[in-house]
Amino acid sequence: MDQGGTRSVVYIAAAVATALLALVMLPAVLVADRNAAAADLTGEVNSDAIPAEFRDSVLKAGQRCKEISASVLAAQIDSESGWNPRATSPAGAQGISQFMPGTWNTWGKDYSRDGRVDVFDPHDSIGSQADLMCALARQVRDKIQLRVISGEPLELTLAAYNAGMGNVTAAKGVPPFPETTAYIRKILDASATKYSLDAIGDVGGAVRLPLAPGRYTNQHNFGRSGSMWARHHTGNDFSAPCGTPVRAVTGGVATADPSQAAWAGPHFVKILTGQRSTATWYAHMGRAAVTNGQRVQAGEVIGYVGSLGNSSGCHLHLEVHPKNGGYAQDEVDPNAWLRQKGLRP
Ligand SMILES: [Zn+2]
Repeated sequence: MDQGGTRSVVYIAAAVATALLALVMLPAVLVADRNAAAADLTGEVNSDAIPAEFRDSVLKAGQRCKEISASVLAAQIDSESGWNPRATSPAGAQGISQFMPGTWNTWGKDYSRDGRVDVFDPHDSIGSQADLMCALARQVRDKIQLRVISGEPLELTLAAYNAGMGNVTAAKGVPPFPETTAYIRKILDASATKYSLDAIGDVGGAVRLPLAPGRYTNQHNFGRSGSMWARHHTGNDFSAPCGTPVRAVTGGVATADPSQAAWAGPHFVKILTGQRSTATWYAHMGRAAVTNGQRVQAGEVIGYVGSLGNSSGCHLHLEVHPKNGGYAQDEVDPNAWLRQKGLRP
């Protein structure tokens, strides 16, 4: 929200210029940011993301061994069956954790204590999945100590789960199977974002300006009072021609929040780095270039400057919420925050 942002009369020239700029910026975007594998995966699980009927089983299973957290188990179940206890696959995998019959014969246990070992009983499957994963983690630890294999223990354990320990041993590490490396990436990503309460995006990660340098006028108006703001200005306004690409300041998960639409417009986007870590807010955009839940890297285009919502001219209203709090709760001055990260807004 600002009072009198720059109104461009050269939309077409601006659009061409920004399109060219986007092409020039592309290689930088591709190499930007860290990957989620560097995140601490032993942190606290986001239990709200686990369907209520399975929550206790997953949390208990996550206590089985220190190597395999509830976040990792939840990410695996999400990937295997989408939390469907009746799931079956064409290959013969069964239940919420998609055990093959032979594996189930070895690992299946009656965790629900109903007198039956049942692969379609989600509590039996989830507990047994933890047993299997913890056993694989122990084997990986032993093989690393014996220098038979090398690599990051959790990645190796997930590789053993996906491709078999024989293939991990043969490759002396994560085997170079595209399916296996994609599986590891998927589980680490989900366990560090959707199923984690801990920061992933801005811890040692790249931080970028929301608009390309030289393409905006910084209004330096965080904290000011004014007729357009409920109490004080909770963000900073960057005036720029409508259509200017808006970039994610940090990596993270793009999140829609319709509850803010009245002032922030229908294409309001938040980039979350974790459930209770830094969130950046992008208000008044004319169009979003990301979908709800999409994972983005710092510097990636997430939308385009507009003047929708409570706005009197083309501009980006940027907010920084270090604890992912709500409106007027935990915001800090975006300019100061960006300067702390070594940028010159
Ligand atoms: Zn504003």
